[in-house]
Amino acid sequence: MDFEVIIGLEVHTQLNTKTKLFCSCPTSFNDPINKNTCPTCLALPGALPTINKEAIHKAIQLGTALNATINRVSKFDRKNYFYPDSPSAYQISQLYQPIIENGFIELDSGKKVKIDRAHLEADAGKNIHEAGYSKVDLNRAGTPLIEIVTAPDLRSSDEAIEYLKKLHSILRYIDISDANMQEGSFRCDANVSIRPKGDTKLYTRVEIKNINSFRFIQKAIEYEVNRQIEAWEDGVYDDEVWQETRLYDANKNETRSMRGKEEAADYRYFPEPDLWSVEISDEMLEKYSQIPELPTQKSKRFQEELGLSTYDAGVISSAKELAQFFEEILESGVQVKNAVSWLTSELLGRLNKRNLDITSSPVNSKKLADLIKAIEKKTISGKAGKDVLDYLMDHDVSVEAAIEKLGLKQVNDDGAILKIIDEVIANNQDKVQEYLNGKEKLFGFFVGQIMKASKGKANPQTVNQLLKERLKNE
Ligand code: ZN
Ligand code: MN
Repeated sequence: MDFEVIIGLEVHTQLNTKTKLFCSCPTSFNDPINKNTCPTCLALPGALPTINKEAIHKAIQLGTALNATINRVSKFDRKNYFYPDSPSAYQISQLYQPIIENGFIELDSGKKVKIDRAHLEADAGKNIHEAGYSKVDLNRAGTPLIEIVTAPDLRSSDEAIEYLKKLHSILRYIDISDANMQEGSFRCDANVSIRPKGDTKLYTRVEIKNINSFRFIQKAIEYEVNRQIEAWEDGVYDDEVWQETRLYDANKNETRSMRGKEEAADYRYFPEPDLWSVEISDEMLEKYSQIPELPTQKSKRFQEELGLSTYDAGVISSAKELAQFFEEILESGVQVKNAVSWLTSELLGRLNKRNLDITSSPVNSKKLADLIKAIEKKTISGKAGKDVLDYLMDHDVSVEAAIEKLGLKQVNDDGAILKIIDEVIANNQDKVQEYLNGKEKLFGFFVGQIMKASKGKANPQTVNQLLKERLKNE
């Protein structure tokens, strides 16, 4: 039997506001434990929340980027549950009237993944378990999150990852979150179910919680899909697949049952009595729906204006910093095709090998532009350029200094090249005779000898041209 995979995703992303959602404590990461707390985020009796406008502004930007409806009035609700890292024993969230509804992200295939809703809510603190003790750090308690929820529109783990990468990139382009997955500012829950192909009803969905890398999300979904299909094929689907929350264990590459999944009713939601509804004015909407060029638009522009291939344009526009790096190289006046290949194949290739991304590249855009210029001006050959780039990855010196140090300056001077040609011809008189008698493929041999004698520094085009003339006169 053939199965169809049904995936819906929920992403919690931490907004990069200066202060928390309902108090003026800073949101800075890595401060001493419990430093950034106050009566409100500690939920002390009598302390009252007030809404952080900056979080509303960022939600408007997100709604715009997601092609969504931005609700002019939205409301907060209390979601009740007890956790040691939540001193109020409830979370302030938005259930009934979220700030964002009905958006979409378009995949490369043209398929639009529907975003049902995105709502504001406060994050919990953190439990720290060490040396036999459990401690609670409330620095993160009350930090603003936006939870972005898709319809069950995704049909494979590949589609899920493509959607997530696009969302991640958008968040960083509009600069509302650093979306750092290791630090938990971009956390994904995946709802996974299967059904026989052709069937239209939705079967039991299983939620996989808090997976924090694209690779693990893909593996977790694939594991879960296989688990459900096997259960179906073994006739034990109803016994083994039930609505629950499962945890992905990256070390064992498996999902494990964590708890039964709560329904909304389990949280006893009710309207938050301490907050007004959020009203968005015309001015506010106008001002914050101005957003920078998004990755898809940038990619289209690179293809249309610069003639980049779909693939190259996609790679370069995938991260804001990478696109910026590329545009900086172009501004220096180098040729587009050189900018593309030296950035994507050469520099990114070297960065990948070292597990670095463009933001931590030892070679900045100015240096890469200088290197490309040196090649375009024939100061060095393209091949020597690769050696120079290798050197620059480990040495913080200028391109000029690196070329000097490696002794790679190309010889363009006709006189110097002719001198080498003469030597090679004098030392290979027998081969010259064979060549003159019609063995034309020996030309390549002479070029090789000349390049070798010049230690690879002679400009090959000049060598070709001068050698041809010189042999004519033999
Ligand atoms: Zn506070
Ligand atoms: Mn949530």
